[in-house]
Amino acid sequence: MTRQREWQKKKRAQGLCPICGQKSKEGHIYCINHHEMRKVYTRNLNRKKKGIPLDAPLRTRASKNIANKSIQATGDKAAKPLI
Ligand SMILES: [Zn+2]
Repeated sequence: MTRQREWQKKKRAQGLCPICGQKSKEGHIYCINHHEMRKVYTRNLNRKKKGIPLDAPLRTRASKNIANKSIQATGDKAAKPLI
């Protein structure tokens, strides 16, 4: 095992971020900064696999609710969601 990997394993066992060594986010492996970085990285990785453009807007729970409400309000089932 390399020195780097030993350091990473030690930090992870201590509950610290294995990249920078700062306090990790509660219930997560990485700190807040690296958690966000990993989130974007894995999202782009999955989007590349599925053929979704990388700059496509995020589908959040709130955007789904807005889209459903607009369909219910118009009563048009064929209406496209806003987002
Ligand atoms: Zn970090």
